[in-house]
Amino acid sequence: MMKTKQFKSESKKLMDMMINSIYTHKEIFLREIISNSSDAIDKLYFRSLTDSSVGIKADEFKIKIELDKENRTITVSDNGIGMTEEELDKNLGTIAKSGSFDFKEENEKAENVDIIGQFGVGFYSAFMVSDEVTVKTKAFGSDEAFCFNSKGADGYTISSCEKEDVGTTVIMHIKPDTDDEKYSEYLDQYRISALVKKYSDYIRHPIVMNFETKKPVEGKENEYEDVVELRTLNSMIPIWKRSKSELKDEDYNNFYKEKFMDYEDPIKVIHTSTEGTATYSALMFIPKHPPFDYYTKEFEKGLQLYSKGVLIMDKCAELLPDYFSFVKGLVDSEDLSLNISREMLQHDGQLKLIAKTLEKKIKNELEKMLKNEREKYEEFFKSFGIGLKFGCYNDYGMHADTLKDLLIFKSSNEGKYQTLKEYTEGMKEGQDTIYYACGETVERIELLPQCDAVKEKGYGILYLTENVDEFALMMLREYDGKKFMNVCDENLNLDTEDEKKELESENNAAKDMFEEMKKALGDSVNAIRFTNKLKNHPVCLTSEGGISLEMEKTLNSMPGAADNKVKAQLVLEISATHKLAEKLKELYGKDNETLGKYAKLLYGEACLIGGKPIENPAEHSALVCELMTK
Ligand code: ADP
Repeated sequence: MMKTKQFKSESKKLMDMMINSIYTHKEIFLREIISNSSDAIDKLYFRSLTDSSVGIKADEFKIKIELDKENRTITVSDNGIGMTEEELDKNLGTIAKSGSFDFKEENEKAENVDIIGQFGVGFYSAFMVSDEVTVKTKAFGSDEAFCFNSKGADGYTISSCEKEDVGTTVIMHIKPDTDDEKYSEYLDQYRISALVKKYSDYIRHPIVMNFETKKPVEGKENEYEDVVELRTLNSMIPIWKRSKSELKDEDYNNFYKEKFMDYEDPIKVIHTSTEGTATYSALMFIPKHPPFDYYTKEFEKGLQLYSKGVLIMDKCAELLPDYFSFVKGLVDSEDLSLNISREMLQHDGQLKLIAKTLEKKIKNELEKMLKNEREKYEEFFKSFGIGLKFGCYNDYGMHADTLKDLLIFKSSNEGKYQTLKEYTEGMKEGQDTIYYACGETVERIELLPQCDAVKEKGYGILYLTENVDEFALMMLREYDGKKFMNVCDENLNLDTEDEKKELESENNAAKDMFEEMKKALGDSVNAIRFTNKLKNHPVCLTSEGGISLEMEKTLNSMPGAADNKVKAQLVLEISATHKLAEKLKELYGKDNETLGKYAKLLYGEACLIGGKPIENPAEHSALVCELMTK
């Protein structure tokens, strides 16, 4: 009488989890069973290289799937190395024989369910869809075959059985359908063929299945007959394992579009393989445009992770830094085990090493594109540049150095994009500062009075049109030893020593007048003064301290900023050479009321020019009308 053996205690728990796992993950059982078959074939194949008694030719190895709707079974057989009675007991009687699945009691429920979906736990996943599993196997070099049978957590039996050829056959009896779960779909040839395509397309050995189709009957129009043909379901050689020289752009593009569901070709393909400390092949793509959800919370970065051609994770976030989250693609590594939990993956040194080299590779490719395919790069930057700028700014500027040479900004050089390097290389003799100006659009920035003064000196200006721009530059602090300066910074000082002195004495002389004007403006501005930098423009707003007008706008528009508004320290600067300066001096002492009104008007003008909303538009408009009707 055959005795039912008990599973080892941890196996039992895992088995329970498996049986009750959530539905969406169940489909991976097929991947697991096929991978085992593939491994078993590999073993016998390697054996055949040195052992002539194997007697199977390389092209005879295969994995066969059979569906039996009537008996509700799906059978996967291989002509691999098989198992002895002892191996059968040891391998299938204990879960996680390979030791890589580290079963932890404390995080039994939620997390492990995820682990199953992401990584699978080998043979036992068959119980997610089956209520009975039978394994018939004959080991290479043995005359006897053995049968393992289990109906789940209760235990299993092993008995001897009939089996002619060496190899293993796994027969899964599919569970009955329930209201929520239609297990019958695993008996459908199209569903199974799609699952093989999805998870096991790149298994090196053919996965074959009899396919029922209809074919036209020869010589008879519109007549069809049922035929059964043996089809190979997997393509076997992954595109990333093929040599670059035999692949055309079209191959890459088609693969990308099909696999990553884009309707456009990628802007760049990065195909690389490495051997040595980390052995892997990677195929990465930079899309032309961001996916529709790219700038939403739902977007998940990551590369697909394969272990020897078998998909083990769909979006492995650890492989990409946030600032390269636009990269799509996959990595296939020999060094990773199939049964590895997400938690362990995070600490996996091998994976970190791969991520590091991939990051370098991506950066390198972007630099190459910037250098050799400028137009393409600019197109790329329009789609994803903002991510690179955030990369400079985030993590306290930790990655700023890595990314600084990938940034481009529109510039006063005909509005063309410039890198920081191009800007500094084009600097005039004696220029020691990188000037930038902020605004919503290039057109608006060009209207800033401060820009004229800088341009007149022959200095270039970088035009920052995105909120994050100025913050990114602040993180960089300097480039090539040159400091950055906002043209609207009060420290913008383009005067000669003599000019400085003259201005200082003028400002001193007008001190009381400015005090009088300030009374009208309250705490809107910190100070009022004359400046030389405006030439024909009458006024402008500059900021002292670290916060510019643009930064004030950005910071105050952030969520939660409402109760804690940031305020730039503003200075109202008035052109010392403008006719207006004389007019103000005339009014001072004689008609301080009008002087106060002028101060308000000038402040309003300066706000308008600087892109800052006027605090009291009605008052401003009333003052303008008063002036017009005088
Ligand atoms: P893993 O594949 O991670 O080792 P499994 O639970 O899937 O874990 O399988 C346990 C062991 O059972 C395998 O390592 C292998 O030795 C053996 N095995 C499973 N399926 C087969 C098969 N089709 N042919 C030969 N051996 C198999």
